[in-house]
Amino acid sequence: MLQHDILVIGAGLAGMRAAVRAAEIPKINVAVLSKVHPLRSHSGAAEGGINAALTPEDRWEDHAFDTVKGSDYIGDQDAIEFMCEEAPAEVYWLEHAGTLFNRDKAGDLDIRAFGGAVRPRTAFVHDITGHALLNTLYEQLTARGISVYEEWFVTRLIVEDGVCKGVVAWDVINGGLNVIQAKTVIMATGGNGRIYHGRTTNAWSCTGDGMSLAYQAGAPLGDMEFVQFHPTTLKSNGVLLTEANRGEGGYLRNALGERFMANYAPEKMELGPHDLVSRAETIEVLEGRGIDGCVLLDITHLGEAKIMHKLPSTRELCEAFLGIDPVHEPVPVRPGQHYTMGGIRTNRYAETEIHGLYAAGECACVSVHGANRLGANSLLDTLIFGRVAAERAAEYARSTAYQTFSDSWLTSEEERIKGYVGRTGGQKLATIRNEQGIAMAEGMGVFRTPERMQRALEKIKELQERVQQAPIDDKGAIFNTDLLGAVELENMLEQAEIICLGAIARKESRGAHSRLDFDKRDDENWMKHTLAYLGEGGPRLAYGPVTVTHYQPEERKY
Ligand SMILES: Cc1cc2nc3c(=O)[nH]c(=O)nc-3n(C[C@H](O)[C@H](O)[C@H](O)COP(=O)(O)OP(=O)(O)OC[C@H]3O[C@@H](n4cnc5c(N)ncnc54)[C@H](O)[C@@H]3O)c2cc1C
Repeated sequence: MLQHDILVIGAGLAGMRAAVRAAEIPKINVAVLSKVHPLRSHSGAAEGGINAALTPEDRWEDHAFDTVKGSDYIGDQDAIEFMCEEAPAEVYWLEHAGTLFNRDKAGDLDIRAFGGAVRPRTAFVHDITGHALLNTLYEQLTARGISVYEEWFVTRLIVEDGVCKGVVAWDVINGGLNVIQAKTVIMATGGNGRIYHGRTTNAWSCTGDGMSLAYQAGAPLGDMEFVQFHPTTLKSNGVLLTEANRGEGGYLRNALGERFMANYAPEKMELGPHDLVSRAETIEVLEGRGIDGCVLLDITHLGEAKIMHKLPSTRELCEAFLGIDPVHEPVPVRPGQHYTMGGIRTNRYAETEIHGLYAAGECACVSVHGANRLGANSLLDTLIFGRVAAERAAEYARSTAYQTFSDSWLTSEEERIKGYVGRTGGQKLATIRNEQGIAMAEGMGVFRTPERMQRALEKIKELQERVQQAPIDDKGAIFNTDLLGAVELENMLEQAEIICLGAIARKESRGAHSRLDFDKRDDENWMKHTLAYLGEGGPRLAYGPVTVTHYQPEERKY
């Protein structure tokens, strides 16, 4: 049987950082398993940069406070402080590992301004930061000779008596399920933006499988109702224009040419946090000052030289998808789904409620982002908690023997997967996926009402029924992406239901969860994390405390 002390699921930044760190620890046998080649992981799409207090005038404590405030006071402050204190060393580690960060005239790492921060603290590589970091990590992975199960897909975590003992995984290229025994498993499986199919910045592969796998195994998902919308995405396809456009001095204008952010965040203007700017844009459109459902991102005044040096992807994306050159013309943009603040609930050591199971990166809810993530904090989150997960997992693995488990796991998974292929009737998976995206965008968008949320929930339940009959056209064993899509879609529908239930239950507005019927934050009743457990008849909601260290809740003003 295949065996590893640490098996990392996912080869984005969180997964590769975990594996690279684990490989440095003596007597640890680590492997990475990923449904896409590591360099195609979604982290490669990140553009704007990574936060760390790097300058003499900045302080990690200020970074921590900005993050707590950005989270609308529901982020866990022990985890936030740890992440911000560790941030500079992590960025220097990346630099020494080979990342070609942009530099200022003095030769130091250049930094740019990002939303919700008191001063600039975002290090970057042009506007391709995620791509650069992913390549650095892949080089480090390769240099250490770490084994990678490429294009393998985990269908089940093997958990018995509250202990994780391995996984059942499908070799997508060659076909067939396999059991991998592992002393510890680190989930680094990324976000679930494709739940908002057609209205998300996220890649096709962002289906949140890891969240469903952990949930099905008994771990709670935390704060799933907090779904982030990014203010500058293209209407036609959800492609993101990085926040760095505003960080480098770009403006947002309405149909009257006004910089409307003056009415919503007079001090920070376009550099308010994502939730605030997304709401402002939506209000402008609803009140009739939009253009075809959009507002305008204007970077024309920055000049071609600066745009080509610091924002080359923005120009390329606008020309490719809109036929607009942003050097000369403003670009229509609107809020689009972008990030999952919720995920597999962990403590600040990346530990879940299941022994031997860890989680890091976007699939996890540590929670450093609370109700609203600040831009450029998630790359940092992936790296810091990827590393921590590896250290904790190694400690556990060294004190534990491989655990035996029932041999029925493989056969029952084989039966279950065979069941999908046997389906004949019903509607196409693509139809169901599209309807899911529409239902979530309408019911679980920037502003939420009880009626719309309820409608979304009912639609998701209907789709959960219909997906059971959806036929798999490809009956083959080799690279069956039709079958893969069916498993992913079921996972997404499960998480969509949890998003709806958590949002309906949370009777307040906090961060990205903005209800028209409860338009204020309610610390007295709702300063708590939502936890969703797999219950008898579906999700069971419970609540857990928020860790407060130094920062007492106060009204957020920008
Ligand atoms: C367009 C865009 C721009 C962004 N820009 C920034 C930015 O400038 N700064 C910032 O801080 N953040 C940014 N973000 C957010 C940030 O990029 C992500 O939160 C982060 O990269 C997530 O990394 P990850 O390692 O957790 O997951 P991912 O990179 O998504 O990796 C997930 C991995 O899990 C694997 N996987 C999933 N399910 C399975 C399964 N069942 N079996 C096997 N493998 C599986 C996948 O193959 C993949 O390797 C941006 C996001 C987007 C969409």
